Amino acid sequence: MRQTKIVLSDKEIPTKWYNIMADMPNKPKPPLHPGTRQPVGPQDLAAIFPMDLILQEVSTERWIDIPEEVLDIYSLWRPSPLYRAHRLEAALGTPAKIYYKYEGVSPAGSHKPNTSIPQAFYNKKAGMKRIATETGAGQWGSSMALAGKLFGLDVTVYMVKVSYGQKPYRRIMMETWGATVHASPSKVTNSGRKVLELDPNSQGSLGIAISEAVEDAATHNDTNYALGSVLNHVCLHQTVIGLEAKKQMEIAGDYPDVVIGCCGGGSNLAGIAFPFLHDKIGGKKVRVMAVEPASCPTLTKGEFRYDFGDVAGLTPLMTMYTLGHDFMPPGIHAGGLRYHGDSPLISQLYHDKLIEARAYNQVPVFEAALQFANTESIIPAPESAHAIRAVIDEALLAKEEGKQKTILFNLSGHGYMDLQAYADYHDGKLKDFEYPSEEIKKSLAKLPKI
Ligand SMILES: *Cc1c(COP(=O)(O)O)cnc(C)c1O
Repeated sequence: MRQTKIVLSDKEIPTKWYNIMADMPNKPKPPLHPGTRQPVGPQDLAAIFPMDLILQEVSTERWIDIPEEVLDIYSLWRPSPLYRAHRLEAALGTPAKIYYKYEGVSPAGSHKPNTSIPQAFYNKKAGMKRIATETGAGQWGSSMALAGKLFGLDVTVYMVKVSYGQKPYRRIMMETWGATVHASPSKVTNSGRKVLELDPNSQGSLGIAISEAVEDAATHNDTNYALGSVLNHVCLHQTVIGLEAKKQMEIAGDYPDVVIGCCGGGSNLAGIAFPFLHDKIGGKKVRVMAVEPASCPTLTKGEFRYDFGDVAGLTPLMTMYTLGHDFMPPGIHAGGLRYHGDSPLISQLYHDKLIEARAYNQVPVFEAALQFANTESIIPAPESAHAIRAVIDEALLAKEEGKQKTILFNLSGHGYMDLQAYADYHDGKLKDFEYPSEEIKKSLAKLPKI
């Protein structure tokens, strides 16, 4: 019988995270204080993050121990399975071998609990009572709500208003796990009230919601902030994905020629790819590919420079590929890929040509999602479907060239909470958006000159 999935035992959950900062040829430039424009010190960040996470954020140690309490909760769904996509390969008639790591097995349905769990742990350890955070379509908010519940922390989530109204199911998940959810812009914070004064009908954006959550955390002593992507410590926590995948590929007797992940802020790509980039930096031949939406083409059309993480300019300035912090991307269905910037680590690695990037429109992305659902059976998250589009194109190229190739990708989540997107696809309502070059140019022109 051929092998379809490669599973590891609980004992094989990695006990250390891999920190790529130890091996990068060029490290990201230091984050700058939003006011003084001087490098931020640990004390500046201490108003909103616990010291353990701040130390991870700046660490250059290659391996960082995963606490026992975190491993204990990881074991609820980790190690996640690695699949060989036999049926998709057959449908494509490709000589390529396709493997995927499936992160949809977590309770929240995506890779995000890999970091919400340790973030809740370190905040609890630091004596915090509450976490304030933001969410777009609700993937991060639900992951944080789950983690808060498991460690006895209250969780307040500022949810982008358009999703709060249109996508109630993840809000219900958050409330089921005990979180308080506000539609953002809300009247709860100064940042929210300011936006509402200018535009009472504002539908919100991730950048606005971040401003609200950061303000909430900075103005309450017992409350910290948590971010679901972008930051170094988030990418660090996600490396359990790639570390497991490496073991599983070894069991399969294979090694990827190319590792592919969708890229919103960059955390799931970092998770699957960093352990393989460790090999690449050491001289091994392996490609890494980031896949993003053509309507929010951060890596492929953005600029590499200092920018804020949020609309109000409350967060430190970080060097990253960015479309400008007040760029408002079109309302595509892959909500998790609508962020204006990318992780400084992913950005630096892309700048140094260790990562390549590709952008796709949403109609071809959903065609790939359907092909995957009809062969491999899992209905993928619209975000993950971006990676699948690139995987299928790489596999078809291998067929055209008559070349053997091994492809590994991260199936970052399932799409069972995103069925409206599929309904819109079936009804022919999905549109490809023109690359909004004018909007991006305007937004980039407003960036601080550093
Ligand atoms: C949030 C999310 C993403 C995008 O975030 P990254 O930090 O780029 O990983 C991708 N896939 C799924 C399923 C998500 O929930």
